[in-house]
Amino acid sequence: PLTANKIAAGEVVDRPASVVKELVENAIDAQATSIVVEIREGGKTFIRVTDNGSGIDETDIELAFERHATSKLRNIEDLNTILSLGFRGEALASISSVSQIELVTKTETSDSGIVLELHSGKIISRNRIGTTKGTTFVIKNLFYNTPARLKFMKSSSTEAAYINDVVSRLAMAHPNIAVRFINNESIIFSTSGSGNVIHNIASIYGKELAKNIYHFKKEHGEISLEAFVAKPSFHRGNRQLQSFFINGRYIKSLLLQNSVEEAYRTLLPINKYPICFLYLTMSPELIDVNIHPTKLEIKFSNDEILKPFITRCIKEALYRQNL
Ligand code: ADP
Ligand code: MG
Repeated sequence: PLTANKIAAGEVVDRPASVVKELVENAIDAQATSIVVEIREGGKTFIRVTDNGSGIDETDIELAFERHATSKLRNIEDLNTILSLGFRGEALASISSVSQIELVTKTETSDSGIVLELHSGKIISRNRIGTTKGTTFVIKNLFYNTPARLKFMKSSSTEAAYINDVVSRLAMAHPNIAVRFINNESIIFSTSGSGNVIHNIASIYGKELAKNIYHFKKEHGEISLEAFVAKPSFHRGNRQLQSFFINGRYIKSLLLQNSVEEAYRTLLPINKYPICFLYLTMSPELIDVNIHPTKLEIKFSNDEILKPFITRCIKEALYRQNL
């Protein structure tokens, strides 16, 4: 099984950012209200994710690292369920097979925590430790035993940028969770967990941008939209500051991207992209999720309604603000 894990790891864990994404999603699934992500050298040598969530029961710890082991019994028909499945109990198995892990975890009811060390997926020590409720994962030397993967990683600053992107979007998707991101000992951002999206934008992307965001809510049949869109003068040369969340999950969607860009089309210089954060709520039946392990692409059954609705709402908002 160890060999199989190494091969599969290439597909599901392709770089430090995907490790961070999996660990943070696990923390969110564990009902954490506070999550700290710390990296060194772009996550290549060191990733630490600390949460104050449920912790892992000591009888389940070893099992958590086994392929297809998941404590999340869910109904696959539900969108939120499908999206939160991630790698279907594969993440920890994959990550542990290509790194050195230290795990500290404690549940509410147990008197002490457990500290577990694994190298290439093999447990090398297990001890009791005094700690508070929650879980800390330290991932050291990612891909140290898979030279091909090691070579594939980019510079520390590039990998750190990918991680920043992942953590930012997860923090934006969960404004009720306090998220802190630390790179090489310096705090990159820290959100309050107050639930206020504008405060989150200020913490993550800067106060100046937060001051220049229009916020509105609109409903259309079964679709509800909460939008945070920037003044056209606050644009970007890339789409890094465009985020779409459906039923609380970050997703990629060309349709939504096009809808927004259409609304801004005459207002932006050429090769510039609008800044926006859209939170959509709709019935899972209207969405077709086509999950690839690294991408979250989505299709809507109501394209012909959704696109004009989004474009019109944003156009109206921009127009109103300019009056
Ligand atoms: P999945 O998330 O698809 O279940 P993972 O491999 O990511 O698979 O995790 C395996 C199991 O380990 C989870 O189902 C959960 O029970 C447990 N687990 C992982 N991370 C945490 C965490 N931070 N807090 C509590 N439990 C966790
Ligand atoms: Mg997971």
